[in-house]
Amino acid sequence: MVKFSGDLHTHSIASGHAYSTITEMAQAAASKGLEYLAITDHGPNMPGAAHLYYFGNLPVVSREIAGVKILRGVEANIIGANGELDLPDKILAKLDWVLVGFHPDTGYHGDTIEVNTQALKAALANPHVDAVVHPGNPHYPIDYQAVVAAAAKYGKVIEINNASLTITRTGSTENCQTIAEFAAQANIKVIIDSDAHFAEHIGKLSDAYRLARSSGIQDEQIVNLTAQGIEEFLRSRGKIIVPA
Ligand SMILES: [Zn+2]
Ligand SMILES: [Zn+2]
Repeated sequence: MVKFSGDLHTHSIASGHAYSTITEMAQAAASKGLEYLAITDHGPNMPGAAHLYYFGNLPVVSREIAGVKILRGVEANIIGANGELDLPDKILAKLDWVLVGFHPDTGYHGDTIEVNTQALKAALANPHVDAVVHPGNPHYPIDYQAVVAAAAKYGKVIEINNASLTITRTGSTENCQTIAEFAAQANIKVIIDSDAHFAEHIGKLSDAYRLARSSGIQDEQIVNLTAQGIEEFLRSRGKIIVPA
């Protein structure tokens, strides 16, 4: 089984429907042999999610817990057709890692491929944004090729979400395959994440890895396979590299 160096999309109790603390998550990541863990709680527009103060105060969280390097992040909600997010730039600028995606009950009302694609492309153009998550969600259809092209243009990454294949967002698999094929053709970087909502699920990445490889994605394209890959990508984004 292939060994990853980081899981870059995980949720703590602060998300309101996840069940582990950051410390428990770091310990779980350590036990799985991960070097990097991004804590990416849902943005404030999601019911039960943390207030903006939670994200603004994230710099109090240690950069290393249980020997695991911590990226202080968020999974921001796209809430408008022009890629508007539910956190202001001044808070996003303080974070190490900014994921964006569509979620129900967060105030987003796009219902066509055109609007969803425009919103995602605009979010990818936001200089604070690093990656788009679970783009294969069938509830938010998008033009995959256009989104992959936007990721390439802005030097961002597309996620292949392991939970979309195993736990949630039923109907994603075929879409994820199509996105992965476009990503392989365009030779863009991708991330493969657990989207864990409980510490035990951190590092569960094998289903998405299998899908990526069977779609033609090479190991070199997968940012979080190696610590070097993560650090190179963070550097390309002008983000902090957690000191060794
Ligand atoms: Zn999500
Ligand atoms: Zn998530």
